Amino acid sequence: MTYTIEDTVLVDIQVDHFEYEPGKKILDNIHQKIHNITRPDVTQGQVLALLGPSGIGKSTLLELIAGLQKPTKGSIQVYDENKQALVPTKTGTAGMVYQSYDLFPFLTVRGQLELGARKGGLTGKDAEDKINFHLEHFHLREHARKYPNQLSGGQRQRLAIAQQLLCSTKLLLMDEPFSGLDPILKASICELIADVAQLHEHMTVIIVSHDIEPTLSIADTVWLIGKTPEGAATVVNTIDMMAQGLCWRKDIREDLKFQQLVLEVERKFGSLMGK
Ligand code: ADP
Ligand code: MG
Repeated sequence: MTYTIEDTVLVDIQVDHFEYEPGKKILDNIHQKIHNITRPDVTQGQVLALLGPSGIGKSTLLELIAGLQKPTKGSIQVYDENKQALVPTKTGTAGMVYQSYDLFPFLTVRGQLELGARKGGLTGKDAEDKINFHLEHFHLREHARKYPNQLSGGQRQRLAIAQQLLCSTKLLLMDEPFSGLDPILKASICELIADVAQLHEHMTVIIVSHDIEPTLSIADTVWLIGKTPEGAATVVNTIDMMAQGLCWRKDIREDLKFQQLVLEVERKFGSLMGK
């Protein structure tokens, strides 16, 4: 599969360090850029995975990208379509889908999407059209009048994604999307993530996970998160799934090369905790 990694940077992460309490670094020396990727004849966003053991600092890094936390020293910038330039990330820049799918229990499916549209500054017919598009696209139309407790787990997750895409159209962050799911549901989430990545040329889905196999199966690029000798989290390795021909394929799990990579990363995991 041919593809081009362009010069345009969609997310520029320059975190010298981040600490919750003075003197205790949680993240250290994370300097990474996410470039735009194009493929001929395909609307091509991308899936970046942050893969690392539990408790290491992955959710923290996601919160920094979302602008919910600021680096203690450093900056994070995100591509602004209107300005055609990088601007500092801030609350609302990215859509964030938490493990718990944070939905409002007292709002219907349509109500949740209307709220997302309002947050995204959409009004009138524009809001109506986009809400209808997402209801259709995420197979929620027939459930539009239901409340979250009347939906299945998969429907709730699709709703949470749709709601976030209404307020933030190009950057979607997902924290542990596979957590607590059986293999069949994990596979359907992978399909959903691939589908979201193809909504827009600049669409960037960043998933954070400690679940190696499904994460590798859906990612275009993987950053392995490990510890520095001082115990802070940093990117210890980057895996380019595209260069290895291990992405954009439904049959990936059957590929021996893929299975070997899963084993290799599993073996690496033990040493990622450092010290
Ligand atoms: P992961 O997502 O990889 O499991 P986290 O980013 O949630 O890891 O946590 C990394 C470290 O930061 C942990 O040691 C955790 O206890 C600490 N931590 C997370 N949130 C806070 C907070 N709000 N205040 C202080 N420490 C925190
Ligand atoms: Mg976490």
